[in-house]
Amino acid sequence: MIPTSGPPGSVTVRAPAKINLHLGVGAPRGDGFHPLLTVYHAIGIYDDVTVRPSDSWRLTVETAPYLDVTAVPLGDDNIVVRAATLLADLHGVPAHADVLIRKEIPVAGGMAGGSADAAAVLVALDRLWGLDTSDEDMFRLAAELGSDVPFALMGGNVLGTGRGEVVESVRGGDVVRWWVVVTAREGLSTPAVYRRFDAMAADASPRPSPPHRLVAFLADPVEAITGLLHNDLQEPALDLRPELRDVLAAGEKAGALAGLVSGSGPTCVFLCSSADHARGVAAGLDGVGEHVLVANGPVAGAHVVEHA
Ligand code: ATP
Repeated sequence: MIPTSGPPGSVTVRAPAKINLHLGVGAPRGDGFHPLLTVYHAIGIYDDVTVRPSDSWRLTVETAPYLDVTAVPLGDDNIVVRAATLLADLHGVPAHADVLIRKEIPVAGGMAGGSADAAAVLVALDRLWGLDTSDEDMFRLAAELGSDVPFALMGGNVLGTGRGEVVESVRGGDVVRWWVVVTAREGLSTPAVYRRFDAMAADASPRPSPPHRLVAFLADPVEAITGLLHNDLQEPALDLRPELRDVLAAGEKAGALAGLVSGSGPTCVFLCSSADHARGVAAGLDGVGEHVLVANGPVAGAHVVEHA
């Protein structure tokens, strides 16, 4: 059981990776952001953020062996630092904590790992510092930090509008989907993928393509959604990383129901019909990409797993 009172010695919060079952992207708005209509789906690949009391700020990062720890910044450019500063400023408290991020989510992989860390540290520091921040303030800070951060607080299946930061739960939260995830050795820059989108889709409508049919079938058997997965950033990502076409083809050959690039890539994800099917597809993809993982979704958003 997780105690909820008394000053904690440490708090650990777990936050999931996301994939976009549908990612409709419109032409850039006046403020430079692209309007999105997206269906987020949280899957069971996690970053854990542990915070401890301290009289200064310290950030440490550890990663799973398949990730490059040097790709994660340790200074002010880590989104966790920005998240801690925003939360501390809101309440007028010093941003003092000893923070450890343990990463499983691919870095610059199109799975919103940084956003997961930001959501996790907001929840963890709120508890550590005894702030009791309202949900409204939490979601406002999250949206300020990044388009995917409000979703990382929620988890599940979520419709994202605006630039992705306006979030609303959708159906299918209790229907388990199985995925095989193929990571890449080198990440892709999200802004670079959007720039390629702008170059390739110069006539894009300002209104992103809607996921009506997908949302209608989200609670149905897996075959109903197989043909409805869609990602407007897939072609730009493939244009920047042509070898991902081979990864997608390998997934199809290994028997996946459907494959797609996750968000801005380069991670590729493959929909399967069961845990056994996913393990079989994963075995068929052995040696493809940097690392092959099996995960299910949807899973919970940022949540406390340890409060010692
Ligand atoms: P997006 O949410 O734009 O799809 P992504 O999932 O592709 O992003 P992230 O892993 O969130 O990529 O990281 C994008 C970049 O942000 C990294 O290349 C890194 O330089 C920087 N970064 C800052 N903080 C973090 C963090 N806590 N974890 C990972 N990367 C971070």
